[in-house]
Amino acid sequence: MYKAKAYAAKSETSPLAATTIPRREPTEQDVQIEILYCGICHSDLHQVRNEWKEVMPTVYPCVPGHEIVGRVTKVGAGVTKFQPGDLAAVGCMVDSDGTCPECKAGLEQFCANMTLTYNFPDKHLGGVTYGGYSDSIVVDERFVLKVPGNLDLAGTAPLLCAGITTYSPMRHWGVTKGKKVGVVGLGGLGHMAVKFAHALGAHTVVFTTSPGKKEDALRLGADEVVISRNADEMKKHVGSFDFILDAVSAEHDINAYLQLLRRDGNLTMVGAPEKPLPVSVFGLIFGRRSLSGSPIGGIAETQEMLDFCGQHNLTADVEVIPIQKVNEAYERLLKSDVKYRFSIDMASLKAE
Ligand code: NAP
Ligand code: ZN
Repeated sequence: MYKAKAYAAKSETSPLAATTIPRREPTEQDVQIEILYCGICHSDLHQVRNEWKEVMPTVYPCVPGHEIVGRVTKVGAGVTKFQPGDLAAVGCMVDSDGTCPECKAGLEQFCANMTLTYNFPDKHLGGVTYGGYSDSIVVDERFVLKVPGNLDLAGTAPLLCAGITTYSPMRHWGVTKGKKVGVVGLGGLGHMAVKFAHALGAHTVVFTTSPGKKEDALRLGADEVVISRNADEMKKHVGSFDFILDAVSAEHDINAYLQLLRRDGNLTMVGAPEKPLPVSVFGLIFGRRSLSGSPIGGIAETQEMLDFCGQHNLTADVEVIPIQKVNEAYERLLKSDVKYRFSIDMASLKAE
């Protein structure tokens, strides 16, 4: 065991602050990574502030962060895919049983024994897992991803959650050329969804509550932008979408989007607001529409997504910040004031 530097919250009302945490020495199958960049996901904020207490109560101290990019510093004797000096990435999961039907299908995100990167029981050290707001992490090589060499690293970190969480449902629901696809909420997830829908050839429409994001949405690849608080603009799209991805972090009316779907259209929720959202059943019955959710993505698909980004030269639009600005960044996230993902330059942690 060794000590790593990290930023942690001590309670749901405390700001994040510098601390040290235990990390295990790499075992036979482990890769030790020096973290270079870690993205700030809205899930980090939900978890740190214990907003998901009904489903996933927070254990303190909490070290969030599951959009990790870094360089390999050490590998266990049994590691075959990585060697010291390689670029490497870690997303939302660090372990699973590897034997159940979900794991065998490459869908580790559904494994009953899966371990999330933070706030999950740590099989090695006891207590809970600690995430990427830290200078290093040790992860089983099965959960370590290869980073294409041509991508900017600060913009690559957010692909590990915002990227895969939007890419996976689009692949599942068949987003391709000729499909009309909506993206609700132009935040970290939403802006990656726009890039992917555009790259996959779909006619892409952004729904935003922020009129100031219109130009950016078009630059990111949207064909049309709708200000969702404008009922007349919404009405023009009734019954026309094949697929809508909802990436909103707060309470909002999803029925307004269900009625925009065509027959057999699907609305997938990736946004995870704190409170339940009311659903109009008639909105589903008329048009045989469906409403579903989707969590992150499996390891093989995450690698596929990273390779797709390498081929298309896609990364997140990031504002790089030092770790000392993380609490300020959380406040800005709540005001939808980020273009479009904060990425923490972990070199700043050396000053602590
Ligand atoms: P984010 O960067 O804060 O973006 C959220 C966006 O939602 C905002 O930019 C804003 O877009 C819109 N929004 C915020 N408050 C709103 C309100 N009251 N009414 C309507 N729209 C509102 O967050 P993120 O990191 O992309 O995460 C989005 C959500 O996805 C979070 O709940 C997060 O926990 C969840 N998530 C889920 C998964 C999964 O596996 N399913 C993975 C990662 C994250 P506009 O300004 O364009 O309106
Ligand atoms: Zn996330």
